[in-house]
Amino acid sequence: AGAASLALTLSACGQNSEGGSKESSGSAKGGTIGIAMPTKSSERWIADGNNVVKNLQAKGYKTKLVYGEDDPDQQVSQIENLITQGVKGLIVAAIDNKSLNNVLQQAKDAKIPVIAYDRLILGTPNVDYYASFDNTKVGELQANYIVDKLGLKSGKGPFNIELFAGSNDDNNTKYFFGGAMSVLQPYIDSKKLVVKSGQTKLTQVTTLRWDGATAQKRMEDILTSTYTSGKVDAVLSPYDGISIGILAALKSDGYGKGSKPIPVITGQDAELASVKSIIAGQQTQTVYKDTRKLAEVASTMVDDVLNGKKPEVNDTKTYDNGTKVVPAYLLQPVSVDKTNYTKELVDTGYYKASELN
Ligand code: BGC
Repeated sequence: AGAASLALTLSACGQNSEGGSKESSGSAKGGTIGIAMPTKSSERWIADGNNVVKNLQAKGYKTKLVYGEDDPDQQVSQIENLITQGVKGLIVAAIDNKSLNNVLQQAKDAKIPVIAYDRLILGTPNVDYYASFDNTKVGELQANYIVDKLGLKSGKGPFNIELFAGSNDDNNTKYFFGGAMSVLQPYIDSKKLVVKSGQTKLTQVTTLRWDGATAQKRMEDILTSTYTSGKVDAVLSPYDGISIGILAALKSDGYGKGSKPIPVITGQDAELASVKSIIAGQQTQTVYKDTRKLAEVASTMVDDVLNGKKPEVNDTKTYDNGTKVVPAYLLQPVSVDKTNYTKELVDTGYYKASELN
């Protein structure tokens, strides 16, 4: 998305993109919370960062918001800096879920509580709470959408499908893919869905750092090697940036013309470019996750911990990080396509109708 549309996106998400901070007289209040986000290359994280800042400032905190440019080492040194600067709490959306053990030990030693934001941090006891969405449900929504759209329940088929997953160093990836495959596998077993490339294992279908160009290349390779005959009817895509890459590969192979309609393509995050693509009849679906709500949950968690209160959680079983089960608050994702984007995205104020033209 261009800078102009991004600015619009942010204003539509009710964010104030100005920096600055608000002083307050409370005890933990007035302190600074460090917020480490993964990348600015995807709109959602920009929205997340700004929304967290807004929420914390409203609670009387100062904030320091940093982005790691999808580079795990850079994120580690950013968090080290935040600790050195004396932050009172940390909210972290990890780039590589396993690279933060040492730095989070430093946080622990400095008595800084840590909230894992959207992505669970693995292999360390030094993560206090987890704020996210129901990640298995995200994958189920994507797969159920494909099943419904192809008419598999009414016995239609067989159809060709190709599968894409997210980054292998993001803990969410296996939940998204697992949720999706729990729905798709029975149709693959009964041969109503055929993965012609044969690439069905998570290790074969991941996309490092969720990179759209990487996904585009993989789709191109699959089209060239596998679809000399037949056509792709559906693509499981875990994230809008990946969906846009897949779509580009399909279109340059002639999809969207004549006897090759654009396949059913899922997505995630309801990013502006993808919502526009859905309206234009290209990408088919996305999963909307209201980052305003996630920011509010994470901000409230850190505020509660700093005030000696137990944050509200609604899941104490699912998110085992290898060291402990991290208590979590999970929000509900929503499937969005052409038929309900107005209700879900415009009526809720996430986007202005004028942005989607
Ligand atoms: C998030 C998704 C996002 C992806 C790529 C995941 O951890 O849960 O919402 O699409 O990262 O940024």
